[in-house]
Amino acid sequence: MMNIIDGKAISKQIKDEVKEKVAALKAQGVTVTLAVVQVGNDPASSVYVNNKKKACAYTGMESESFELPEETTQEELLSLIEELNNRKEINGILVQLPLPEHIDENAVIRAISPKKDVDGFHPQSVGALCIGQPGFVSCTPAGIIELLKRSGIEIAGKECVIIGRSNIVGKPMALLMLRENATVTITHSKTKDLKDVCKRADILIVAIGKPQMITEEYVKEGAVVIDVGIHRREEGLCGDVDFERVSGHCSYITPVPGGVGPMTIAMLMHNCVESVALQTE
Ligand code: NAD
Repeated sequence: MMNIIDGKAISKQIKDEVKEKVAALKAQGVTVTLAVVQVGNDPASSVYVNNKKKACAYTGMESESFELPEETTQEELLSLIEELNNRKEINGILVQLPLPEHIDENAVIRAISPKKDVDGFHPQSVGALCIGQPGFVSCTPAGIIELLKRSGIEIAGKECVIIGRSNIVGKPMALLMLRENATVTITHSKTKDLKDVCKRADILIVAIGKPQMITEEYVKEGAVVIDVGIHRREEGLCGDVDFERVSGHCSYITPVPGGVGPMTIAMLMHNCVESVALQTE
């Protein structure tokens, strides 16, 4: 039987758990605060930033917004981050990507204190994940682990194939699945016989950025299929997976919209509340 994984419902569960933790901290006199930094006014980034601010309001966290003009220099941005690193009442720092071309994204990511790196992009956070030490985990892959666990899907010992090796999805996803004791294969644009490799998967995680590329030819009968892709079309959103063709062949599948998408912000909220403990260690 095919089950559709309800990312909206699971993300709400997580946000409600965060809300309780935020309230408990508030009762102890601690206000959880996320700093949200946006440079320029790219419309897609503005939508993401607004959604993050709304999620803060829902969970009872404070958000402090920094909307900087497109022509902000790298030095100006780095000095704002330095200031936010030093401000005790700021728990998490989120710099919305992409940044304008004249700013080196890696330099900005490195400047954020690993104790406030709620996006989990700092090399120290990624290194900690790699060697199994505590640290922030990138929100989208962390959200996928929650989707699997809260849907009762066993991960240990399963063949997991990930399509895509980006720093924000594919690579941390592979490390997390390894941490959960899956047998992990990462595939990418240079992989040979992609269909055959994917057909081995009990759990297939798709983060390619190509609309509806994955059809039933890539999917083993009864597999779990997680679609990370998001593409805007005139008819509405779609993923990297051809839902119509694949859904009849799998045991579980995430829809687009309403699958992985809502989990990213829920995990950001989760990371913010966890950051409080990290900062008081
Ligand atoms: P990316 O472009 O950085 O990486 C794509 C990866 O896919 C690359 O590693 C590349 O090697 C691989 N690839 C490309 N073409 C391929 C092919 N024909 N065969 C096999 N592999 C191929 O993308 P990303 O940032 O990882 O994002 C992937 C998708 O996920 C995008 O659609 C993006 O919008 C979406 N996304 C969604 C969320 C969310 O919150 N749901 C978060 C991040 C990204």
